[in-house]
This record gives sequence, C-alpha cells and structure tokens, in this order.
Amino acid sequence: MAFLEVKNLDKSFPIKGGVFQRTVSSVKAVSGVSFSLNKGETLGIVGESGCGKTTLGRTLVRLYEPSAGDIQFDGKDLVKASKSALKEIRKDFQMIFQDPFASLNPRMSVRAIIEEPLKLNKIGDQQERQEKIDKIIKLVGLRPDALNRYPHEFSGGQRQRIGIARSLILNPKLIIADEPVSALDVSIQSQILNLLVELQKKLGLTYIFITHDLAVVKYISDKIAIMYLGKIVEFGSVDDIFNKTKHPYTKALLASILVPDPAKRGHSEALGGDVPSPANPPSGCVFHTRCKFAMEVCKNKIPEMKSVAGSNSHQSACFLND
Ligand code: SF4
Repeated sequence: MAFLEVKNLDKSFPIKGGVFQRTVSSVKAVSGVSFSLNKGETLGIVGESGCGKTTLGRTLVRLYEPSAGDIQFDGKDLVKASKSALKEIRKDFQMIFQDPFASLNPRMSVRAIIEEPLKLNKIGDQQERQEKIDKIIKLVGLRPDALNRYPHEFSGGQRQRIGIARSLILNPKLIIADEPVSALDVSIQSQILNLLVELQKKLGLTYIFITHDLAVVKYISDKIAIMYLGKIVEFGSVDDIFNKTKHPYTKALLASILVPDPAKRGHSEALGGDVPSPANPPSGCVFHTRCKFAMEVCKNKIPEMKSVAGSNSHQSACFLND
C-alpha cells in the first residue's frame, strides 16, 4: 500500500440562512478526490484561488473533518481514527504556512516557538529538548544565536526557516506546505525551495506542496494534481503534466504562465473569466463554462478521471481524452 492513499474524499461546508441561521445548502469545496503518494515523494497540488486546494490540504490531516471518503496514512485509517489516536498520528504530519509571521507568536523567542510542540507533546526533558532545538536550527540554515531573538527581528525568508524548524521538531513524516514561498521575494523563494528539497533528502520527508505557481511546482514535485472547483482534473508526473498535457484546463493554466505581465497571469485569453462559485458549480464538466473545447455532452455529463492511454501514472477527466 502507498504511504498516503486517498479515495473519493469530499469536504462540504454548510451555508446558513434565515433568522434562525439554519443550514439551507452546502458548498462542496473538495469533491471525489483520489490519489496515492509514496514515501519520500512530493505531490504538488495546483489551481487558481478558490479551487479547493487549501481545503484539501487541511482535510487530508483532519484539520477539517472529511464529509466522505477514505484516507490511509502510513497504514493507519485517518478518517476513522479516534481523537486520542489522531493526537498520536498528528505528530507524524505538520503544516508549513504561507505567512510565517502570522503563525509565529511575536511575544515568544525563537527558542520558545520551536520548543512549544515538544512541550505540548511532553517530549524529552529540558536538556533533551535543547539538544533537539540546537540541531534543528542548524539544519534549517540559521545561526544558534537566532534562538534568543524574536520573530520581528528576522526577514521573511528567515521567518520561514523558523516556521520550517518548528514543523520539523517532532520528526514528522509528512509535511503539508501551503503556498510556503508565495509571500517571499523570488530570490528568497529559491533558497527556501532548495532548503525544502535538501531536508527531504536528509530526513526522508514526504511533501504535499500546495501552490498556484506552476514554476514552483515543476521544480519541487514528483507528481502533480491539477485542481478545479474542488476536483482533480488531471494527475500525473511532472513530464505528464508539462510535456504530455491532456486536460484543457491544464493547457490554459500553462498558457497563462507564458503571459509576460505578472498582473495579467491567470487571465490570459486561454483562461477567460473567473472560477465559478463553488456554491453553485456548473452542471456536467465543471470547467465547461470556460473551456473553449466544450461540447454539448460537457454540459450534462460529468467526465470521469481515466488513465491516459499508454501511461500508468497519467490521468485526466475530459471527454476529449475518451
Ligand atoms: Fe472541456 Fe468538455 Fe473536456 Fe470539460 S469535458 S474540459 S468542457 S472538453
């Protein structure tokens, strides 16, 4: 069995309305997501904002309760795990967030920030904890004197290194990184990406890397999932996605990164209009309202994820590939 095996995962949120704030409807933020990931691999999850990629990341580690589906993580059933079992399993996965400053308590020293997860999980005595912290701060490329300083004294890249150190202190097996470099300058982005790649090799980590940036995902991933309105519409290796692209949405995303003006990226002719509301998704293929290849069948029938002929790894959900 794969290290992480996800089958038909759904996550819906209720929409409340009326005087009594009753549930009147629901939004399906994640719908029928399935994939598998081996130990030491990186899965890049890509899509425009509002496509459900952050919700998927949080549902995978039960920060949001799944509405349906199955998650097997390192041989354990994550969906059925009791609260106490989940607390134990949670040590094995950690998150890295987009804005490290927001996730670092400004009143705590870097030492206290990195030590906090150890204390909360009652791991080691004072000396053992200090030894772990001294090791981890070097591992993320910061000097030991950083431990006695406070988050506001650091640059964005250094703060992300502190965030990474805190994520690694419990020796996790899986890291979910949600846009971890998108708030950083381009030159700093590559330093943090290189650090993550280096740490993966040294520590045997498995990554789920959530981003809207195809260049970043191409650099860091082994497998890529393209998401649109809560669904994975194409899945494959970096070569499958970039060189043997099948799905019209992936093609449009790739075309949009070739637009020279960064402000206009994502709004190229290839990808006209905005993502429809997940509260009222289009019928049939959810991409049909923006797809320049849409046919009559696309409005009425939902295309299934199917293996691309001649490939074990590559899948796409489009009638054109039938
Ligand atoms: Fe476009 Fe139809 Fe394929 Fe959807 S199923 S991506 S609408 S061609």
